[in-house]
Parts: sequence; structure tokens; C-alpha cells
Amino acid sequence: MVVLSRFDCRGINQQNWNPVLNRIHPAAFSALQARRIFPQDERLLASRANQNVEQILRNHDKSFYRGRRPEAAMNNTIESLSNSRTVRGGMAATILDGSKMAAEIRAELAAEVKVLAASGVRPGLAVVLVGHDPASEVYVRGKVKSSQEVGIYSEKHTPPESATTQELLELIADLNRRDEIHGILVQLPLPRHVDAKKILLAVDPAKDVDGFHPMNVGFLSTQRPGLVPCTPAGVMEILKRSAIPVAGQEAVVVGRSDIVGKPIAMLLLNANATVTVCHSKTRNLPGVCRRADILVAAIGRAGMITRDYVKPGATVIDVGMNQVTDRAEFDRLFAGNKKREEIFLTKGATLVGDVHPEVGEVAGAITPVPGGVGPLTIAMLMANTVKAAKIRSQK
Ligand code: NDP
Repeated sequence: MVVLSRFDCRGINQQNWNPVLNRIHPAAFSALQARRIFPQDERLLASRANQNVEQILRNHDKSFYRGRRPEAAMNNTIESLSNSRTVRGGMAATILDGSKMAAEIRAELAAEVKVLAASGVRPGLAVVLVGHDPASEVYVRGKVKSSQEVGIYSEKHTPPESATTQELLELIADLNRRDEIHGILVQLPLPRHVDAKKILLAVDPAKDVDGFHPMNVGFLSTQRPGLVPCTPAGVMEILKRSAIPVAGQEAVVVGRSDIVGKPIAMLLLNANATVTVCHSKTRNLPGVCRRADILVAAIGRAGMITRDYVKPGATVIDVGMNQVTDRAEFDRLFAGNKKREEIFLTKGATLVGDVHPEVGEVAGAITPVPGGVGPLTIAMLMANTVKAAKIRSQK
């Protein structure tokens, strides 16, 4: 990274902007002055005094310094930092494109599947969908389609809404026994009369591609190899593929569910972040969130995380998926956003995360909704199925 060689990129922790500027290499300082836009950048750097310069630069544009002369790279860095707020109409954050990353993962997996197939192993996924929950049907369709794209064999089991716990246990036992099935996914929620915990416990941990089985939960918390829940794994993949540093960073996870919040916190901890987990009883939630270099929202409340929760320059991962159908709520979140308004008026609803769109003006990087964590969830399900097949075939 040429540009970074001209900055002193150690973390900047000072309270005022003078020391911030003193940490910039003299050559870079001159280049900044020569651009005559220094005051704006000075303010930006000062406002992000707790951020690591390297991360700010990376968040604001990954591509501009590749293959350029140092001076050109420096000048473009400065312009990018200034323009990011104006050119993009106030949107300062780098958008972490989950759809693109998911496509990359699928392509990588397709290549792995080919290699496995050449050795006589075709990864197989069985999806169990009980009843006719419309949202679940959409999710399952997506999973089956994604399997086909990657070259994974998939089969769908659709017991009726009236299926009993015992009947479902028998189905799971049969899938556990079958060699050509490497992954079993039971689509949640199950009908109320079914004992969901009993069903999930019955899935062979080696085929538990959702990573919900207590044995896989234990493997995760003791840092042993196992199958990791897909959405949390997707969050880590976004950070990794965006080259966002995790080790030593302050990470705050809002939400402590067994399937999202807790495993995300555990993965961040395993990656050496300093992790705080928040929930509905957390005091001074905005204050705690503002400590975060990496803020993960997994709450299930549309646009709850506003700019007051976010330290300037932080990376914000929005796991939430909420349908907004109320006009007043829509206006609170998307007033003036023509594209969203069109969707809202046509469909009567629009998908929003737990993070308010205004956070894009203060965050350094952010995942969009839709197109952020969601696509990664399915990609990681495919990855888990391939992983399960590889482990099984090595036995
Ligand atoms: P849960 O309802 O199981 O958990 C929500 C968590 O948020 C709980 O820990 C709860 O705290 C906490 N919470 C609720 N209200 C507040 C509040 N006012 N302040 C602080 N914390 C609060 O949800 P999930 O974990 O299953 O899902 C979270 C979100 O992620 C949802 O929007 C869901 O749709 C989405 N999701 C997205 C996926 C994707 O692929 N993108 C996959 C899975 C989920 P407490 O424990 O105290 O009640």
C-alpha cells in the first residue's frame, strides 16, 4: 500500500488534532498543504482522532492508491476523504457489498465442489421445511437455488404443518444415516406444537450446517474446529474480505440471541477483538456503542441505531432485517429517498436493517440492507455444506 508508507500509520489516540497531524509524515504533510484542501481533511482527521489512519484510508477507498505514484496516490487520498461526504450526498461510509462478496464465495465454492466431485464426493444438502410459512418458503427457495449454482446436490423435504415431533425426529434420523447427505438444515420457525429444541438436538453435529447444535456451540466457544452459524460466519467473512482489522479492536455487539448475537461475539473474541455484548437491559446503550471500532447490530428493530450510537469512522455491520410498512416509520428512515419511496409505494413495504440510514454519514464502512449480511448467510450455508462434505470424506 504505497500511500501508507508515507503516513505514520500507528494508531492515533490523542484527544486533540495537533498530535494527530504531528503523526503524519512530513512529506505527506506537504502534499496535504499543496492540495489547498487541507482544512477540511484536518477537521476530518481531528474528528476521527481515535481511529487508526490506516483503517480510515482503507474504509474511504480501497482502490484509488493501487498502482499509482506515491504523490498521485496521496493527492487522490485527500480528494477521496473530502469528496466522500459531498460527492455522495453526505454518505461518507464505504459500502461493504455483501452481494458481491457472496458471489465471490459461491464462485470459490463451485471450484472446490468440482475438485471434490473429481474425487467422487458430491456435497449434499437436505432442507426440511415444515408447513407453509411464506417467508420460510422464500428462504428455502434461495438456499436450493444457491446450492444448484455451486454444484451442491440438494433435496427439499416438506412435511405438512401437522407433522409431529416424533415424525420429524424419524426424518432427521433417516437423513443422519444417509451418506450422500452432508448437511441438514431445519428451517425455523417450526410449528408451535413441535419441540424445536429436540429436533435441532437430533441433527448429527457433523451435518449441522446451521451450527446450532450445542456441540458446535461448544466447539466455537472452545476454539475447536466445527460448523459455525451462517450469519455470524458471514459477518466475519465481510470483515475479512474488506480487510478490516479485528484483533485489538473494540467490538460491540447489540443483541445476544443464541443464533446471531452470541456466536458473532464469540467469533470476534476468537479473532482477538475486545468484545462487549449489549441487550435490552444494557444501560447507556448509545454510550457503549460509541466505544466501538466495530459495531454489530443484531436487534430486530428498524433503524434503532442512529448516528448518536456510532463513533466517527467505525465499521458498522447491520444484521437486522425488518419490513417497514408504516408511512410515518418510512419517513423517519427514508424521507427524501426517491428510490426507496418507489419501492415502498409499489410493494407497500421496504426492507430496513437495525441501523438508521443516517449512520452512513458518520461510519467509516457500513453494510447495506438489503445486500449486506443477508447474501453472506446463504453463501456461508453453502460453505458449511462443502466443509462438512470434506470432513466426512476425509474420515
Ligand atoms: P432476537 O429477537 O432473538 O434477539 C434480539 C436481541 O436484541 C436480543 O438479545 C434483545 O435483548 C436485543 N434487543 C431487543 N431490543 C433491544 C433494545 N431496545 N436495546 C438493546 N437490545 C435490544 O433476534 P435475532 O438475533 O434472531 O435477530 C436479530 C436481527 O437479525 C433480526 O432483525 C433478524 O431478522 C435479523 N437476522 C438477519 C439474518 C440475516 O441473514 N441477515 C439472519 C438472522 C437474523 P434481550 O436478550 O435482552 O431480549
